[in-house]
Amino acid sequence: HLSARDGYAPLNSDFDNFYIRRLQLRINDCFRRPITGVPGRFITLLDRKSDDFNLSFKMTGTTTETLNMSSYNYLGFAQSEGECADAVEVATRKYGVSFASPRGDAGTSELHVEVENLVAKFVGKESAMIFSMGFGTNATTFPALVGKGCLIISDELNHSSIRFGARLSGAVIEMFKHNNMNDLERVLRERISQGQPRTHRPWKKILVAVEGLYSMEGTMCNLPEIIALKRKYKFNLFVDEAHSIGALGAQGRGICDYFGVDPAEVDILMGTFTKSFGANGGYVAGDKALIDKLRVTNAGTLFGEAPSPPVLVQISSALRLIIGEIAPGQGQERLERLAFNSRYLRLGLKRLGFIIYGHDDSPIIPLLLYNPAKIPAFSHEMLKRKIAVVVVGYPATPLISSRARFCVSAAHTKDDLDRLLAACDQAGDILQLKFSSGIAGGR
Ligand code: PMP
Repeated sequence: HLSARDGYAPLNSDFDNFYIRRLQLRINDCFRRPITGVPGRFITLLDRKSDDFNLSFKMTGTTTETLNMSSYNYLGFAQSEGECADAVEVATRKYGVSFASPRGDAGTSELHVEVENLVAKFVGKESAMIFSMGFGTNATTFPALVGKGCLIISDELNHSSIRFGARLSGAVIEMFKHNNMNDLERVLRERISQGQPRTHRPWKKILVAVEGLYSMEGTMCNLPEIIALKRKYKFNLFVDEAHSIGALGAQGRGICDYFGVDPAEVDILMGTFTKSFGANGGYVAGDKALIDKLRVTNAGTLFGEAPSPPVLVQISSALRLIIGEIAPGQGQERLERLAFNSRYLRLGLKRLGFIIYGHDDSPIIPLLLYNPAKIPAFSHEMLKRKIAVVVVGYPATPLISSRARFCVSAAHTKDDLDRLLAACDQAGDILQLKFSSGIAGGR
């Protein structure tokens, strides 16, 4: 028998930490219940036995249908009905579900080329490259763009996949305060010249990384100001549009569309297909020369499986719907409904006196619970009213700014949102969550 006295530590020896205990606390919320169908406007969850405190699932056989405020189903494409579902079914029969090969070997099909062309055109770039996983897109693209001797300047609230890729790249990483342009300029000033004349930069390349829409805060990056700094300090700019593509801008083309910025101003536009498109995977888009370089230097694409046929057809059908090539008018209607729903729910929550974070046009709406003890309580109150919400706390947020997060969808009706508002009103009274007297809160 091995023991700690021999210096042996089992692989799960660091398992019983604060984070895992917090997960156990959440046993009564929707996450500890497997989903049994499409995570669309509604989501059906398998019930748990109330005395089952295991982290592993046990099937009970009974289910609860809940209003889904938790999936990133911004344009309602997760529902997978109509044109999208039909095309996906036909493609699955024609191509199967896997190419069983990386892109460079036998994994590039006409579907990949078609999706890459559609994506490049949609985001306003010369070229695009797609990946089977959004997280992996960032994790493998940063090391292919920069390395030792380079500098990455990253918003402190950037997604874990950006942080992961940045660390893997071996570049020096410097953070700036979330969305704080003065702090970004301070870092640029201090790090770019490092006391030398600006023509003698101590860095091979400098890459500033931000997100279009931040998933825990509902804030948008200040793209016009970042572009102004880019002109002044001459750096490369990477924008992760996982949550903004399809969700922001009059045409759903993301953060550049929202601010009326020419996409040529951003060197790399990255995004995922898992949110607005109801599919899977990610993309990077940029100048042809840059994307061609990535095709032969990105380890994820060179050695990992190519995106699968049904996924590709889901993406191309959703994109065609958004641009109006299929079912003209329907895509625009979805965009407008999402914009209306986002503003309607935000305003309703503010009127009830809740403190919410984020931009007025953001479909991600964090509602502040503050006290970590209210995390499972809020989730439980919502679930009692048959509403599934995401609740988040430390370490994903600072300890005292625990929150619930609503993800608005074009699939939600006004009645759905009124039902949510009524449930929040009741839960807010029970848990004392209303921090203002109905005056516009947030930041
Ligand atoms: N970037 C950001 C900003 C994200 O929020 C996410 C996932 N939520 C990812 C990348 C990873 O994408 P995926 O979930 O599609 O793997």
